[in-house]
Amino acid sequence: MQPTPLAALSDNYIWTLEGEGGRFLVVDPGDAGPVLAAARDGREPAAVVLTHHHHDHIGGVPALLERWPELPVYAPDDERIPMATARLRGGQSVDIAQWRFEVIDVPGHTRSHIALHGHGILFSGDTLFSLGCGRLFEGTPSQMLESLDRLARLPAATLVCCGHEYTRSNAAFALAVEPGNQALRERSEEVERMREQDRPTVPSTLGSELACNPFLRIDAPDVVRAVGARAGDGGAVDRVARFAALRAWKDGFGA
Ligand code: ZN
Ligand code: FE
Repeated sequence: MQPTPLAALSDNYIWTLEGEGGRFLVVDPGDAGPVLAAARDGREPAAVVLTHHHHDHIGGVPALLERWPELPVYAPDDERIPMATARLRGGQSVDIAQWRFEVIDVPGHTRSHIALHGHGILFSGDTLFSLGCGRLFEGTPSQMLESLDRLARLPAATLVCCGHEYTRSNAAFALAVEPGNQALRERSEEVERMREQDRPTVPSTLGSELACNPFLRIDAPDVVRAVGARAGDGGAVDRVARFAALRAWKDGFGA
């Protein structure tokens, strides 16, 4: 079962998953346009899943409901997503149309952000990106680190389907942190080639992220050293402080 990204807005991806009878799952439709365009030749959405309340992930839902008033909309329990028809909670197993997913609470980017895992796929929204992670708008570094730890325990072959095409700029930062990481250098070259051809760099696999993404490599000796060198403490700080320092470094990177 291969998830397909639909490019939306400036750098968002709306994920779709092809099901039986031309019915497909839609994740984070920040804009209705690409979904309406995909709904042709008898194909139509079976359900919508939302990972968090940000407009670039939910903005297309009203127009989709106008076209398909019965379309179920699954979302986290957050009053900022009023158009939800069903609420999802972490730890829950949920049947959505023909698919079963495990719901994972991943606070940090926002306080009610969820991820969905099933069928070898992770819909990670703005929590885990390829080679990066989301900004901390509503959560603490400790919450975000715990969320990423939760995702890191999924099977290595899991396809990581994230909410944005940020991989190229994430690669530049990852290389600044770990210039000697050979897997990262190869991934970065692949990302360059893909972007030159205007191809999406995602989905990646969790195994690739574990090998290359500095935010999942907070305990790797080179990451400890690099963050420690910047902080001038030689890496003596604890894991959460190190994660916070890495995230702060990225926030100021290239700005
Ligand atoms: Zn967001
Ligand atoms: Fe976003």
